[in-house]
Amino acid sequence: MTPNKDSAGRRIQELTRLINRYNHLYYQDHISEVSDFEFDKLLQELSTLENAFPELKLPQSPTQRVGGSITKSFNTVKHDFPMLSLSNTYSDEDLNDFNERIQKDVVGTYEFVSELKFDGVAISLVYENGILTQAITRGDGEQGDEVTSNIKTIKTIPLELNKSDTNIPSRLVVRGEVFMPKAEFERINAEILQDNQERERLGKKSNNLLANPRNAASGTLKNQDASAVAKRRLDCYIYDVLAEELPFQNHAQALAALRLWGFQVSNHYQLCPSLEDVKNYIKLWEHQRFDLPLDTDGIVIKINDYTQRKDLGFTAKSPRWAIAYKYKAESVRTTLLSVNFQVGRTGKITPVANLKPILLAGTTVKRATLHNANEIARLGVEIGDTVFLEKGGEIIPKITAVDSHSPRGGKPLDFPSVCPECHTELQRREGEVDFFCPNDRSCPPQLIGQIEHFVHRKALNIESLGGKTIETFFKQGFIKNVADLYELKTEQILSLDGFKEQSTKNILEGIANSRKQPFSKVLFALGIRFVGESVAEKLAIYFGNLDNLRAATLESLVEVPEIGERIAQSLIDYFQTPENAAILERLIGHGLNFTHTQTVMQKVGDALGGKTYLVTGSFEGHSREDMDRIVRENGGKLASGVSAKLDVLVVGDKAGASKLKKAEQLGVRMMSAQEFWALIKP
Ligand SMILES: [Zn+2]
Repeated sequence: MTPNKDSAGRRIQELTRLINRYNHLYYQDHISEVSDFEFDKLLQELSTLENAFPELKLPQSPTQRVGGSITKSFNTVKHDFPMLSLSNTYSDEDLNDFNERIQKDVVGTYEFVSELKFDGVAISLVYENGILTQAITRGDGEQGDEVTSNIKTIKTIPLELNKSDTNIPSRLVVRGEVFMPKAEFERINAEILQDNQERERLGKKSNNLLANPRNAASGTLKNQDASAVAKRRLDCYIYDVLAEELPFQNHAQALAALRLWGFQVSNHYQLCPSLEDVKNYIKLWEHQRFDLPLDTDGIVIKINDYTQRKDLGFTAKSPRWAIAYKYKAESVRTTLLSVNFQVGRTGKITPVANLKPILLAGTTVKRATLHNANEIARLGVEIGDTVFLEKGGEIIPKITAVDSHSPRGGKPLDFPSVCPECHTELQRREGEVDFFCPNDRSCPPQLIGQIEHFVHRKALNIESLGGKTIETFFKQGFIKNVADLYELKTEQILSLDGFKEQSTKNILEGIANSRKQPFSKVLFALGIRFVGESVAEKLAIYFGNLDNLRAATLESLVEVPEIGERIAQSLIDYFQTPENAAILERLIGHGLNFTHTQTVMQKVGDALGGKTYLVTGSFEGHSREDMDRIVRENGGKLASGVSAKLDVLVVGDKAGASKLKKAEQLGVRMMSAQEFWALIKP
């Protein structure tokens, strides 16, 4: 039943207020007043009402937290108050000079507020009558880019202020730092690494890792797709407030008010009555800052009192009442003791330096990466050398240069010619810097890698088997290949330390359940070179079962849309290898799914009347899988490519030109997204 407009409006207001409050409690005070389930239900209710009555959606609606809007280009917006930068200092002398200048211009006593300088992206937020209306990047200080919809995805930024304080100016500007927490940075990089292992195996180019949290935050804020921003959990600290008329006398009061109004303010600021206190604060945080969940690169020191600030005024570029103290990028010297050559899951060889342990940026460092043979040559490094070590972006230690060679003469660092794990001769693919071990049939780390790929979430999704467990089982000789997984015995697992009844049961159940995974996932899980997720799916649909696929010739394989000769040859090689054939037979025997079954469809209608459809381009609010499902649910058939057999090509945004051209040549009917929706929901 659809509610009437009045009651919908009341409910939308109520839900908006309630969800925003729960959000604040959860993300800033770490209190859950409702269960996730309850929360999702409220959000769903609001979203449904907003869809039914789009005109009633409030500007502070929490449904914007998940993104959804695409910004083609960001508007340039002028700042209400220019965003100045602070002058930097690096030494105690600079601090003394700063203090002396203040002494000259300020009558009587004064005090400082010291704050941590967060390493992120400066942002300016505009609130009108308590509602967030604009978020602007620093830009050149006078004007910046408007990134409001991206900023609204950051859960600790209030969309609406706590109005219990009636002192909130009607137009308010707050300043803060948007940052990517270190844990989030590492999570995303781990995801990219995992993805790259697969890409590497499939012969695809790897994606770059995020360089450091600050670049990652800045890049994310400029993403055109707010949903993509929402997936990278950025965070924000607010540290300043500006308005025509402010109801406070000093900065400490302002920070307290900001927190009361609903902003996240860092707890670590400190009122410092003297310069000595400031210096102690700097010393305190020099090492302690590395324990924080985000990167910091210094300290900001501000005069607390607003009247004194006014007396001090500004230089051309920066306020005279504030200064930034920057910690030096720490670089230390240590000795290179030896180098290990590690074999990765895909056979890639990485040189890892073992160092004389040394304290760097708050942690003891014993190892650093040397990346590859080219990097070793560039550095000209030898065993026994004294080397400079730095933490790039304060995360991964890196040898930056050789300080001096060992007086006793160093030992040249030769890249091995054979695999340190299986002694197979290493190879280097044309145009690539990395060496790799080609022995993917019996090189231990690679075998483990293949099993890890097999159980991966996107493959057979055996969650109960983590990387550690697989390694243990492999070392015990329980599993040498993926077929062995299905022959694991309860007693075997229970005989190992740390495995109890319940965890053993979970592992075996997880493996047993993988039999329910569809053929396309099984095909992907086999780890055939160049056969990624989407190729596996196309092959499964096209050939229907393993027997047809195994019988396919090179000629019939390349007939499949998007399957080229490289993939076809790789498939033929795979099936012709006796070891693979043996494993496949065992997997068939263990009841894995080698036949493609159409997902059971809930038939919604027959509007598409049995015709063949292909969907291309993007559709707002619908993934490609969604669109395919909708076609089938409404009585349409899906084609795998543009051909004369295709009845209708549904064209979304950014559709590929080649498909459109081919469809035109073949005289295939083309349909816009609007026409398509009109057909389905008349
Ligand atoms: Zn090897």
